[in-house]
Amino acid sequence: MKIAVIGTGYVGLVTGTCLAETGNQVTCVDINRQKVQMMQQGKLPIYEPGIETLFNRNVIENRLFFTSDLKQAILDAQVIFLALPTPPGADGAADLSFVLDAAKDIACLITSYKVVVTKSTVPVGTADKVKAIFDQYSDIKVSVVSNPEFLREGVAVEDFMKPDRIVIGTQDEEARKILSELYAPYVRQGNPIIFMDERSSELTKYAANSFLATKISFMNEIANLCESIGADVDMVRLGIGADERIGKRFLFPGIGYGGSCFPKDVQALEKSAKANQYDFKILNAVMEVNSLQKTVLVDKLKRYYNNDLTGKTFALWGLAFKPETDDIREAPALSIIDALLSAGANVVAYDPEALNNVRNLIGDKITYAEDQYQALVDADALLVLTEWSVFRAPDFDLMKKLLKANVIFDGRNLYSVEKMVDHGFYYNSIGRKKVGQMHLNTAVE
Ligand code: NAD
Repeated sequence: MKIAVIGTGYVGLVTGTCLAETGNQVTCVDINRQKVQMMQQGKLPIYEPGIETLFNRNVIENRLFFTSDLKQAILDAQVIFLALPTPPGADGAADLSFVLDAAKDIACLITSYKVVVTKSTVPVGTADKVKAIFDQYSDIKVSVVSNPEFLREGVAVEDFMKPDRIVIGTQDEEARKILSELYAPYVRQGNPIIFMDERSSELTKYAANSFLATKISFMNEIANLCESIGADVDMVRLGIGADERIGKRFLFPGIGYGGSCFPKDVQALEKSAKANQYDFKILNAVMEVNSLQKTVLVDKLKRYYNNDLTGKTFALWGLAFKPETDDIREAPALSIIDALLSAGANVVAYDPEALNNVRNLIGDKITYAEDQYQALVDADALLVLTEWSVFRAPDFDLMKKLLKANVIFDGRNLYSVEKMVDHGFYYNSIGRKKVGQMHLNTAVE
C-alpha cells in the first residue's frame, strides 16, 4: 500500500518505518527541513532502540522516503497518517492547530479518495473537526479515522510491530477494510484490532494515559506514606501487585511522571471534561501529586544538608524522562536541575543518550560528564534520576573513591537498601528506609 505519514517525530518515524517493514511504500513528511535532510542522508534524528536496522533496510530497499514536499507525499497515497504534535495550549487544552492546519493543506491538494488517519492524541470531537475541514476545502471523498497510538518510547518499535491492541475509530466500511488489511501483519498472534466509533477511540487514548498516570501518582503517594509511617514500598508493591486485578506493572514509585504524553494528556483530558461540564476530580489530584513528587528528592537533599545547598556539587545519573530514550520533554530531571541551581548548587550530569538534548536546552548552566563515573568526581552526592540499565549494577568501590562523600539519593530505587548498607553508603530512596551514616556535619536527619 502507498502511505504518507505527516510529522516525522517519535510517533511518525516509528509508524513510517514499521509500515515500510511489512512491504508498504511509505513517504514521511516533515516541515523541519533539517530533520528531513538528516533522514535523507540516512541519519536518525532520535534515539529509539531497534529502529536503526529497520530504517536502514527500508531506505536501502526503496520503501521508505523522506520529504518536505507534502504534495509529492500524499498525491498517490491511499492512507495518510497524521502524526503531528498536539501540545498543551495556553489554557492546558490540546492545541489542535498542527492537525487542523495540516488537514486543510491536505484537503487543498488531494485529487483522489484517501483514508486520513489521526495518530496524534486528540480530544474527542477532533475527527468531526478534521472531516469538516475536508468537506469545506475539497470535493474529494475522504474517510477520517481515529487511530490512537499506544507505543512507548524506548520500546516503540516492538510496540508497533506487536501491539497489545490496535484501536480504530471509524464507522466507514471502506476505511475499516483498508486499515484491517494494512494492520493484518501486526496482529497475527491474535492481538485484537478493536473497532469503535471515532469519539470512543479518541477518548480511549486519553483514558489509557490518564489511568497509567493515576497509577503512578497513587504509588508515589503510597511511597511517601511508607516513609512517614515506617513501611517499605517494595513490600507493599509486591503485596498488591500479586492481585491480578491490580497487576504487577506500573507500581514503581519515583520522582514523578514526565515525557511528552502523560503530563499533557492528563491535563488535556481534565480540560476537555471541564469544557463538557464535567469536573474530573481524580485528574486534578493526579497532577497535583505529580508536581509535588518532582520536588521530593530536592526536599530530601535540603533536609540532609540543613537547608543549605550553596556550593555543593551534585552528580546526576540520568536526564531523559525514562530509560532507552533521548526524550527530555517534561523530564523530572529538568525540574530538579532548576531547583538545585536556584539553591546555589552545582550540577554535573551524565545520561547515555540525552546529554545533547539537555545541552541544547540549557547550555552551560551545568557540566556534562563523558561517562557515569566522571560525573562523580568530587561530587557531594549522587542523584539517580533515570533508571538506565547501565546504572543498575555500577562499580560501588570505584564510586566511593570518586565521590567526595558516600551519599546517594536514588529517585528510582535502583539498589537494594541492604546492599547499600554493606557498601557503606548513606542511601536515601523513595518509600524505603534511609540507611547508612550521614557524611556531613551539617546533616540534620
Ligand atoms: P514530535 O514532536 O516528536 O514530532 C512531531 C513532528 O511533526 C515534528 O518532527 C515536527 O517538525 C512535525 N511537524 C509539525 N508540523 C508539521 C506539518 N505541518 N507538516 C509536517 N510535519 C510537521 O511528536 P511525537 O512525540 O511524535 O507525537 C506526535 C503525536 O503523537 C502527539 O499527539 C502525541 O501526543 C502522540 N503520541 C506520542 C507518543 C510518544 O511516545 N511520543 C505516543 C503516543 C502518541
